[in-house]
Amino acid sequence: MSVNREIRLASRPVGEPGLENFELVEVEVPEPGEGQVLVRNTWMSVDPYMRGRMNDAASYIPPFQLGVAMEGSAIGEVVASRAPEIPVGATVSHFLGWREYAVLDAAGAAVVDTGLARPQDYLGALGTTGLTAYLAVAEIAPVKEGDVVFVSGAAGAVGSVAGQLARKLGAAKVIGSAGGPEKAKKVAEDFGFDAAIDYRAESPAERLAPQGIDVYVDNVGGDHLEAAIGALKTHGKVALVGMISQYNAIGRVPGPSNIYDLVTKRLTVRGVLVTDHLDRFPEYIAKAAPWLADGSLRTAETVVEGLEKAPAAFLGVLRGANTGKMLVRLAGPTRG
Ligand code: NAP
Repeated sequence: MSVNREIRLASRPVGEPGLENFELVEVEVPEPGEGQVLVRNTWMSVDPYMRGRMNDAASYIPPFQLGVAMEGSAIGEVVASRAPEIPVGATVSHFLGWREYAVLDAAGAAVVDTGLARPQDYLGALGTTGLTAYLAVAEIAPVKEGDVVFVSGAAGAVGSVAGQLARKLGAAKVIGSAGGPEKAKKVAEDFGFDAAIDYRAESPAERLAPQGIDVYVDNVGGDHLEAAIGALKTHGKVALVGMISQYNAIGRVPGPSNIYDLVTKRLTVRGVLVTDHLDRFPEYIAKAAPWLADGSLRTAETVVEGLEKAPAAFLGVLRGANTGKMLVRLAGPTRG
């Protein structure tokens, strides 16, 4: 048989997940049926939201099933096609990651333009990562000319893009927070933020309070959200993108102690799920691809090699092992 490998959920974690929660299994490469394509995955994404899918709990997306291959964003090359609209050799973006080969209905595979950007960019700055950042600063908490903007998780995939897009929208000052001096340096020097807070060494609340902020993009929750609420000016805005500080929490976590500030300062706090806005991809890619190409949108990646390392890569994202987008390279291109 031709061997395919996939990662299955072996057990559900309580608190912080570990390698024992995953299982690498060899299966046969599947055959595409009528209207389907066989894709050899070249890159896959590991994302913080996957932690929630490891729990057996109702949410906006169904839980992973025990003993079944996990899922997530991936890029691959079509190696066999029974769908006339997607030829062999096309590079496609789809949702059956965590495996080396995937069979997909044509409707579940989007052909990406590798002349415009590298295949892996469609998992990062041109993928849901970038679209999330764009929605946060352009619509959910729209940045206006002259705003002071604070972004947590600023050395990460969404945060690094959000800060740069806030600047493009006219922010006067963009402040980012990240864990550790190396990441803080990267936020300021590589991603061009005006100021970076190493939240392990300094208190975001103390750094933000003197200047005040107009917009907060929250990737972290917890202390960061409380610090931002405290620093927001009257009529300030928050885009709630994620709360990674609580994804491994057991039981309920306390809310910000200063929530009454939402009333007194008339703050607008709004959540966003990128999956509600996938129809915005063409518009977003048309804007962002030229920025990537001209270097005015800078990205970073942390690349891990091989499917067998995907669980460790995922655990790494939760612990902050990545700068920029955490990616798993599954195979090189078959052509060129
Ligand atoms: P990422 O920021 O590239 O990676 C996660 C980062 O979170 C880590 O590198 C780590 O950076 C930081 N982190 C981990 N634990 C932390 C803690 N206790 N306190 C502060 N920071 C912590 O991941 P991403 O894919 O760009 O996602 C960022 C956030 O956006 C996540 O909350 C994710 O769930 C959310 N998200 C939401 C949507 C949506 O549709 N709403 C879409 C995509 C992503 P440090 O080393 O700096 O701590």
